[in-house]
Amino acid sequence: MYRVDSMKAEEFISHEEIMDTLAYAQENKNNVELIDRILARARQRKGLNHREASVLLVCEDEEKNQEIYALAEQIKKDFYGNRIVMFAPLYLSNYCINGCIYCPFHAKNKHIPRKKLTQEEIRREVIALQDMGHKRLALETGEDPKNCPIEYVLESIRTIYSIHHKNGDIRRVNVNIAATTVENYRKLKEAGIGTYILFQETYHKESYEKLHPTGPKHDYAYHTEAMDRAMEGGIDDVGIGALFGLELYRYEFAGLLMHAEHLEAVHGVGPHTISVPRIRRADDIDPDTFDNGIDDDTFAKLVACIRIAVPYTGMIISTRESQKCRERVLHLGVSQISGGSRTSVGGYVEPEPEEESSAQFDISDNRTLDEVVNWLIKMGYIPSFCTACYREGRTGDRFMSLCKSGQIQNCCHPNALMTLKEYMEDYASEDTRRAGELLIQRELSNIPREKTREIVVRNLAEIEKGKRDFRF
Ligand code: SAM
Ligand code: SF4
Repeated sequence: MYRVDSMKAEEFISHEEIMDTLAYAQENKNNVELIDRILARARQRKGLNHREASVLLVCEDEEKNQEIYALAEQIKKDFYGNRIVMFAPLYLSNYCINGCIYCPFHAKNKHIPRKKLTQEEIRREVIALQDMGHKRLALETGEDPKNCPIEYVLESIRTIYSIHHKNGDIRRVNVNIAATTVENYRKLKEAGIGTYILFQETYHKESYEKLHPTGPKHDYAYHTEAMDRAMEGGIDDVGIGALFGLELYRYEFAGLLMHAEHLEAVHGVGPHTISVPRIRRADDIDPDTFDNGIDDDTFAKLVACIRIAVPYTGMIISTRESQKCRERVLHLGVSQISGGSRTSVGGYVEPEPEEESSAQFDISDNRTLDEVVNWLIKMGYIPSFCTACYREGRTGDRFMSLCKSGQIQNCCHPNALMTLKEYMEDYASEDTRRAGELLIQRELSNIPREKTREIVVRNLAEIEKGKRDFRF
């Protein structure tokens, strides 16, 4: 039985409901009249439900598809302007007791070097990240209660926040660790994390159990209900995602939206972000052994349809994707990207030789953060190092109401400009600095409120004199 507000995984992610949705979408993929009605609803900027969005995802009418892409682009512009938030992953430990078939950290992999950073090593990694210009991290660990208990994660978060190298500062630590208890989520909240991120991998229960044959992650319900426990523990910004390639993408798409609808129905706030990782080659993992890989065109359609279905939800894309692919999906809805990433434990200080790599997967976009920032600026985007919202208490529904009231342009936009200015003063190459300066001058006129604009101009001058961390 499907019940959006049930607390049981199998009811809010009902297999039957997904199968019915896929059948409905398939039947209507050329139903132009229905597609027009759905698009008209989508134009109201209030999102779509999983059934409506699933029809758009499989729509075969070329003209309608162009409308879908154009609408996704417009919604992206309306809600996020041209800002792109920057972050980097930080791998703390690759010890893992799970058996995930797609991940080289799985417990049976005997030859991957197992590493766990000491607090001193974390310091060095964080200094390397700060010296690149990063302000926002996503912590990554395998699941291992002995080698990587919650106390270690909490201590690491404290260490990270305490490091201030030169003008460097990590101001937001997001956390991507295994599903855990309400009590542990509460501890993470108290440690001052930003978003708690957990990928469902696949919403298809039967496949999920096969792909996770051993370890605690095998428990589908415990994993799927994790975000409810996180919210019960006081974390109101959660990030969901599916690992594309494991199961049929249309199934995952419906599952992701049903998950978002469930969080909204039960907790009054949907996910803060959605991630769309695709499986990558890794130590003992060959992505070709998974049957459900999607090509770049399908991937772009997926991103566009997510953008239309959940306009207020940020969308994240990592360096799993190439420069070319990232460029395409930035237009269609992605609002956060990583840059200069390493997926190995300790990889920012000491790049590892390939044959001894502790990395989780191969990276497609190998550019430095400065190259990524430069590229974004030259495409007319504003790379943003802003972390203001959660530090100002704008999380969960408070953040969502800010989005919905359209006030973001008086808040996120100036914050993006001021944090980009900090980046340019402290870390940018000459060319990036020059291009960034022009961008900032141009973008000042896009701050709607005059008073705000004046404050920003003043703060930009203060940043030049050495002051940091201005925010609205
Ligand atoms: N261990 C925690 C977990 O499984 O939820 C979180 C951290 S894990 C390092 C982060 C994510 O990497 C996983 O959720 C999975 O989706 C993704 N991942 C694993 N193997 C991958 C691969 N070969 N290619 C791309 N992404 C992968
Ligand atoms: Fe461990 Fe996470 Fe990799 Fe699974 S995906 S093997 S839980 S690190």
